[in-house]
Amino acid sequence: MKKFFIVGGAGYIGSHVVKLIGEQIKDAEILVFDNLSNGHKDAVLYGNIIQGDVRNYEELYKAIKKFKPDIVLDFASLIIVPESVEKPLEYYEVNTMGVLNLLKAMRDAGIYKLIFSSTAAVYGNPKKVPIPEDAPLKPINPYGKSKLMAEELIKDASVAYSIQYGILRYFNVAGASPDLKIGDKHNTTSHLIPIVLQTALGIRPKMQIYGTDYPTHDGTAIRDYIHVMDLADIHLKLIDYLFESGKSDIFNCGYGRGFSVKEVINAAKKVVGKDFKVENANRRAGDPPILVADSSKLQKTLNWKPKYNNIETIIEHAYKFMLKNF
Ligand code: UDP
Repeated sequence: MKKFFIVGGAGYIGSHVVKLIGEQIKDAEILVFDNLSNGHKDAVLYGNIIQGDVRNYEELYKAIKKFKPDIVLDFASLIIVPESVEKPLEYYEVNTMGVLNLLKAMRDAGIYKLIFSSTAAVYGNPKKVPIPEDAPLKPINPYGKSKLMAEELIKDASVAYSIQYGILRYFNVAGASPDLKIGDKHNTTSHLIPIVLQTALGIRPKMQIYGTDYPTHDGTAIRDYIHVMDLADIHLKLIDYLFESGKSDIFNCGYGRGFSVKEVINAAKKVVGKDFKVENANRRAGDPPILVADSSKLQKTLNWKPKYNNIETIIEHAYKFMLKNF
């Protein structure tokens, strides 16, 4: 039996990982620690939940010390790039200080395995695309910087206190659980696929394309969109890898194939079967032109094979979840 302490497990990605652990790992014991600022209690389909905040060391320490997990997974983050430009200190407080508190609590409670959610934003404007894990780390916005600092804290703590880690650098996560039990429930969003779908459903009168002068084939920014269920599956593979190999490592999480903003909009028009109003607008602060993962290390080392590697499937699952919930 394994005990999982899942920080931010009531949020979008965390709740999908909780679901998969609950379904696939026999006798797993799950405790979710979440402040419910963006998470939802009813998205936690397995285990128990305790309300607490990563900015509070005492709360973390008490919960970890009492539960004595075999491994900690950390999903608690602020994740909106433009918001991080406006509120950098809040981002460092949650994304960086939160990890400092978590590492201290783990060290003090004697827990030595951690899976951490990082981001492609640590690469900034990459010179080489697809981006390998050993590419230069030069984030161009406070969100990416807050996550890179957290990665550095984890690496140093690993050396000093023997904390074994798996760092996952997520590219653009989208979609919902195919059974539609859980999905992205952010009420206010800045992310492309939910905005496109809200526009298609008439929840928004129109949407904007942020930047049509990027150095890409159609002038709009390119991202590597990964289905949330494929991403959750990576966590399950990584859990096995950490327990079996005893090693620490870093992996990019994407498919290695990018889509432009215009391509995503066109795919959504096809999936939904409706046209909707799209305007061209200026570039958004902090947005790099192209982020596409080199995911060969992930596929090889963790023997991971994607199941939902199709932009229309990703959009379709997100759309059906939205229809069901709004
Ligand atoms: N984007 C856009 N219009 C929107 C929301 C996003 O053109 O209403 C663009 C955004 O500028 C970026 C891409 O879509 O180039 C993906 O943005 P998102 O916020 O989904 O993820 P990010 O890559 O910023 O984490």
